[in-house]
Amino acid sequence: MDCIFCKIVAGEIPATLLGETEHSIAFKDISPQKPVHILVVPKHHHSDVAELAFNDPIALVDLMQLGSNLARQHSTGSFRFTFNTGAAAGQTVFHAHGHVTSTTPVDPAATSDSK
Ligand code: AMP
Ligand code: ZN
Repeated sequence: MDCIFCKIVAGEIPATLLGETEHSIAFKDISPQKPVHILVVPKHHHSDVAELAFNDPIALVDLMQLGSNLARQHSTGSFRFTFNTGAAAGQTVFHAHGHVTSTTPVDPAATSDSK
């Protein structure tokens, strides 16, 4: 399957990995929209978060826990956890993923390349 996030999970294309569990990986968004912008992705392919919720709820909880841990590490504790679902809602990569974003990074100097 020609899926960019499956290729990142397989190590076939590079990403800045920030965390991994049995079911999920996390890496930096290539085009950060906020000072903290992390993607959390299930290792198995599901087209969006709704499919993931119905087909593998354990993997969804695992993904939420990984994202929440990283949000606590990388921000001062205030963050958004969003799932664009469907093209009209802004989804561009059709492998389920959560965006962890924050405007209050723990280390502002490390993330000064975005607003
Ligand atoms: P969405 O629009 O919700 O589907 O989010 C897709 C996200 O994936 C966007 O924020 C992109 O910047 C990000 N993205 C696309 N390709 C890569 C990549 N190779 N490595 C990291 N992030 C990526
Ligand atoms: Zn995939």
